[in-house]
Amino acid sequence: MMRAAFIGLGNMGRPMAAALARAGVETRGFDLSASLIDAVAKDGVVATRSLRDAIDGADVAITMLQSGDQTLAVWHEIAAKARGKLFIDCSTIDVESARAAHRLAQESGALSVDAPVSGGVAGARAATLTFMCGGEKEAFAAAKPILEHMGAHVLHCGGAGMGQATKICNNVMLGVTMIATAEAFVLAEKLGLSHRALFDAASISSGQSWSLTTYCPVPELTPASPANNDYKPGFMTALMLKDLRLAQEAAAHAGAASPLGAVATQLYALHQSSGQGAADFSSIIRLIRGE
Ligand code: NAD
Repeated sequence: MMRAAFIGLGNMGRPMAAALARAGVETRGFDLSASLIDAVAKDGVVATRSLRDAIDGADVAITMLQSGDQTLAVWHEIAAKARGKLFIDCSTIDVESARAAHRLAQESGALSVDAPVSGGVAGARAATLTFMCGGEKEAFAAAKPILEHMGAHVLHCGGAGMGQATKICNNVMLGVTMIATAEAFVLAEKLGLSHRALFDAASISSGQSWSLTTYCPVPELTPASPANNDYKPGFMTALMLKDLRLAQEAAAHAGAASPLGAVATQLYALHQSSGQGAADFSSIIRLIRGE
């Protein structure tokens, strides 16, 4: 039976580790928080009290952490036991740290994949996440069947760091189109145009986007919109801001212009500082309305 070490049992990691255990993979969970380790034991995951216990005898180590520094710190710690193993980082982190993590794994004799996700906590619970993966073909081939236990789509986007690159590029498009959609609805309100009339026209015209037809920032137009539920997430403003900041960092590093990404970053930062960090990011319409 395959054995996995799952490190980082927070909002995403706990349901992902549980999905892996449900699929019949012996999964050993570890987190810095003892209460999260206790909690995950109720989901069929073996509770371990140290990183070393989690990694001992594991075929694959999966990390689901908050930042590049955290991933590198954990991967450094488990590198001594890396030979012949597969390391998968599902955290959303900066591209440079992701590449450094791949180098570390390679030097330690492990295969490695960066595999950030989209789909949020609901997708993690339902095991329907999308994984955007970067790494060598051989590493991806080894990671795919494991990730399929936790997701509906597992995509190979290119070499080291390209999973992270895909995720942040996607979220630049998402963050910007949400602001544009919100801005258009607020303009419609000022012009006396109904939400419904704008939606019906734009959703079959060139203004169409996912932000409009799946995740509309005004209520009662699309069934899955957090707008229908007072902007409860969904995808928190704080996480959108994190991803846009990573994209700005990557753009600066790569010498790419990202002017709309820069404005979007500032708008979500303003929104967060007005107390909306925990609200869904589509609540940016409140900022644009001047609420
Ligand atoms: P979280 O803060 O709930 O969980 C992270 C966990 O990592 C914490 O429990 C923390 O204690 C643990 N941790 C940190 N350092 C550790 C170490 N050295 N050893 C063991 N455990 C350690 O975060 P989350 O919401 O689960 O998000 C995880 C990642 O997924 C982030 O990179 C986030 O950007 C990304 N993500 C989150 C969502 C979402 O909806 N929450 C969606 C997509 C992507």
